[in-house]
Amino acid sequence: MRPKALCEHLLNQPGITLHQGDVTSLTRKGAGWRLQLADGSALDADQVVIASAHQANRFAQTVELPLQSVRGQISEVTLPDKVTGPHRVVCAGGYVAPALDGVLTFGASFVPNNASTDVTDDDHQRNIDELRLTLPALVEALELAGNPLSPDNLGGRAAVRAASPDKTPYAGPVPVAEAWRADYLLLSKDATRVPNKRGEHHSGLWISTAHGSQGWRAHRCVPR
Ligand SMILES: Cc1cc2nc3c(=O)[nH]c(=O)nc-3n(C[C@H](O)[C@H](O)[C@H](O)COP(=O)(O)OP(=O)(O)OC[C@H]3O[C@@H](n4cnc5c(N)ncnc54)[C@H](O)[C@@H]3O)c2cc1C
Repeated sequence: MRPKALCEHLLNQPGITLHQGDVTSLTRKGAGWRLQLADGSALDADQVVIASAHQANRFAQTVELPLQSVRGQISEVTLPDKVTGPHRVVCAGGYVAPALDGVLTFGASFVPNNASTDVTDDDHQRNIDELRLTLPALVEALELAGNPLSPDNLGGRAAVRAASPDKTPYAGPVPVAEAWRADYLLLSKDATRVPNKRGEHHSGLWISTAHGSQGWRAHRCVPR
């Protein structure tokens, strides 16, 4: 799968308009919401989905949702002509995908409580070590072809996963934290005393985050 091409395809569907900007705050505007952007402009919407990964709890309405940052880096190498690489995705401690346009992608490092996105030699080396465990014959074939894997000859990309404390996604309406604390107070003392109350939510405000390492798989089941 080419994620960028998929996103571009989805954006080209009828009824979709893309506005890019950093949302700094959300405030009530009538029955909907006003999104304040970092460049000073604002957008109004009747429904808002917060889908900003590990930064999703930076808004007043979501600040109480705990989120952990988990750094990850993938490594990329251009395969020499004589080496083809795997024909299927291979997953073990890490994963390696079939080469795309001659470039093999493998990884990914997993560094909890780290939100940095610089590409580092340390993470490349972890990915090489993991690939050597998963597909030793491939690493040897690259060495025999005169292209031994080394952090110096790898490309890559680093980004940040978002995780919740119990590693399940946050998906649905955004809870009103003060109301939940009062309504479900008993649960903090006795987990068997479940109050017969529906939680209160911010109307028109939704969240989709904490997809961890499996966002592409989760997006199919989360809507249910
Ligand atoms: C190295 C690496 C490899 C991975 N490999 C896989 C894989 O093979 N398969 C898989 O399923 N998952 C994989 N994942 C996990 C996957 O990337 C995530 O699960 C998925 O991207 C989560 O999607 P998301 O939309 O919640 O967050 P993201 O894709 O992180 O998107 C969040 C977006 O919010 C934007 N944003 C943040 N704050 C604001 C703001 N204030 N205003 C406006 N925009 C904002 C960001 O710029 C970003 O574009 C990998 C993750 C990493 C780091």
